[in-house]
Amino acid sequence: IVQYRDVYKSFGDVKVLKGINLDIHAGEKVAVIGPSGSGKTTIIRMLMTLEEPTSGDIIVSGENLWKMEKNGKEVRANEKHLRKVRGDIGMVFQHFNLFPHMTILENCMTAPIHVKKEDKHEVRERAIQMLERVGLGDKIDNYPSQLSGGQKQRVAMARAVVMRPKIMLFDEVTSALDPELVGEVLEVIRDLAQHEDMAMVLVTHEMDFALDIADKVLFLDEGVIAEQGSARDVIEHSQNERLQSFLSRFR
Ligand code: ATP
Repeated sequence: IVQYRDVYKSFGDVKVLKGINLDIHAGEKVAVIGPSGSGKTTIIRMLMTLEEPTSGDIIVSGENLWKMEKNGKEVRANEKHLRKVRGDIGMVFQHFNLFPHMTILENCMTAPIHVKKEDKHEVRERAIQMLERVGLGDKIDNYPSQLSGGQKQRVAMARAVVMRPKIMLFDEVTSALDPELVGEVLEVIRDLAQHEDMAMVLVTHEMDFALDIADKVLFLDEGVIAEQGSARDVIEHSQNERLQSFLSRFR
């Protein structure tokens, strides 16, 4: 469902990604691990169309994310093209980015209604169902400021899933949370991973969690995918020295 082909990304003189080739299949759960600054966030920000690759292609559901055809020629994608391909992709950030002036329910309803032009009643039903599923059925009329960090993060996930993306991106979604709130958020992701057939890409520092839910783990090191394979092969049996040294910090 997603292909990266020879993707490079630089910020000024800093080469952050140096030739990423990656396939993500429909429904696949992929964990991205690696040292700070290795480019993990940049990989998924490009998929969310928040960063443009310096070179290379990213293809989502057969459509090139950043390029389009015009009069038989390949040109840079315009806003309309981006909006169309973006429709398949949902993202949850480290900081929840909820709208403070909207209730929890309104936060979950606004994009499907205003961006996807869906029927309000149908979206409302779906949003309530999702909020119940993440354990917040009794909070739908509260405002974000009335919730804990873990609860806000669960709203952010419900909001993303209500859009019915084909791919969900999670960028270190537990790293801004107090330790005692991490478990409840991981539990929601685990539930989504088990019961939703969308693909998921998670940047995470939770190795046990990655081992548990990921079909595939990528170890990113200095802008290249230094290792990829099943969670067991990468996290438990890899011979790669830099990966072993990285993992030893979590033991
Ligand atoms: P972390 O685990 O610390 O979040 P990461 O692996 O997610 O790290 P990225 O956030 O992808 O790493 O960043 C990779 C490198 O790119 C870093 O050196 C960072 O400083 C740089 N970088 C990222 N975004 C920008 C930007 N908008 N402008 C300039 N440099 C950037």
